[in-house]
Amino acid sequence: MLGRREVFRKVTGSCRSALRLVRAASSQAEVPLTAEHYAVKRGDYAQLTELDVQEFHSILSEGEGGGERVVSDPATVAPHNVDWLHNVRGQSQLLLRPRTTREVSRILAHCNNRRLAVVPQGGNTGLVGGSVPVFDEIILSTSLMDKVISLDQTSGVLVCQSGCVLETLSNMLEEKGLIMPLDLGAKGSCQIGGNVSTNAGGLRLLRYGSLHGTVLGLEVVLADGTVLNALSTLRKDNTGYDMKQLFIGSEGTLGVVTAVSILTPPLPNSTNVAFVGCAGFTEVREVYTKAKTMLGEILSGLLSSWTERSWTLC
Ligand SMILES: Cc1cc2nc3c(=O)[nH]c(=O)nc-3n(C[C@H](O)[C@H](O)[C@H](O)COP(=O)(O)OP(=O)(O)OC[C@H]3O[C@@H](n4cnc5c(N)ncnc54)[C@H](O)[C@@H]3O)c2cc1C
Repeated sequence: MLGRREVFRKVTGSCRSALRLVRAASSQAEVPLTAEHYAVKRGDYAQLTELDVQEFHSILSEGEGGGERVVSDPATVAPHNVDWLHNVRGQSQLLLRPRTTREVSRILAHCNNRRLAVVPQGGNTGLVGGSVPVFDEIILSTSLMDKVISLDQTSGVLVCQSGCVLETLSNMLEEKGLIMPLDLGAKGSCQIGGNVSTNAGGLRLLRYGSLHGTVLGLEVVLADGTVLNALSTLRKDNTGYDMKQLFIGSEGTLGVVTAVSILTPPLPNSTNVAFVGCAGFTEVREVYTKAKTMLGEILSGLLSSWTERSWTLC
């Protein structure tokens, strides 16, 4: 029997190595510019000026590391212009790294007034190019928004900023006998805000359900800088419209997620993993049906792979 960590490493490792090979095959400079590769037209947005950059400096000048949070050095911005798979490349000249919701709000209010385009970026592990600019959009990175706001060990409700890395949260919870309801191969880099914005599934979905169920509340900054506080920690909340659902999976098109309230279940006392050899896909389906019937809600995931291809059912 393999230990839990070993198993996760095996399951996610093969996927990661395949993706790493794809990445290694092209350097950032070789990645085609999205604007040249696809027939897309830049929207009617303003061009960034020195006055805009000065405004961002004044917004992000407070607190520690003020200057470094307005990044225009091309070498530093370059990796943020390229997606994880090295498929698409934008031409942003500016990366902003807020630490607080108020800073995000002031940045977006300014961009909205000036008609400057913005792309939110979490861990930049998305596989569909949504986290990088298409043209010269300003990149708004949440990577410095990495604070845990509260953890109620009785209810298991965790509230944190959106830039917390999934693996960091998992490790922190594990020490307290809790578990994140999602786990995926990109956990060392992806952020909870990115997970919410992509409605990430991952390896624990069969057991704990999708983020539409486990996310209890969100704080989001809308395009004009308005802060929408829907950061409920209540599990049984049947009051009015459930606004947060609109933002789960909306890939930053409706606003920037700045904080997340999420239900974290108890860490299971034991984890068992079975490797089953199947003759074909029909048998895989039979194993899946049987496992669901016999194991019920304790089944966390079922990953199926063979020599040439692999697919997940979890
Ligand atoms: C090895 C590997 C394994 C993966 N496994 C899975 C898997 O099992 N299941 C799965 O669903 N995905 C998987 N992915 C894809 C990816 O990791 C997920 O989509 C992840 O949720 C993205 O998080 P991120 O922080 O990297 O977001 P990013 O890639 O930075 O952004 C993704 C999208 O969300 C938007 N966004 C990011 N942060 C915010 C925010 N705070 N507010 C508003 N919008 C925001 C971006 O604009 C972009 O549109 C995998 C990727 C890799 C590389």
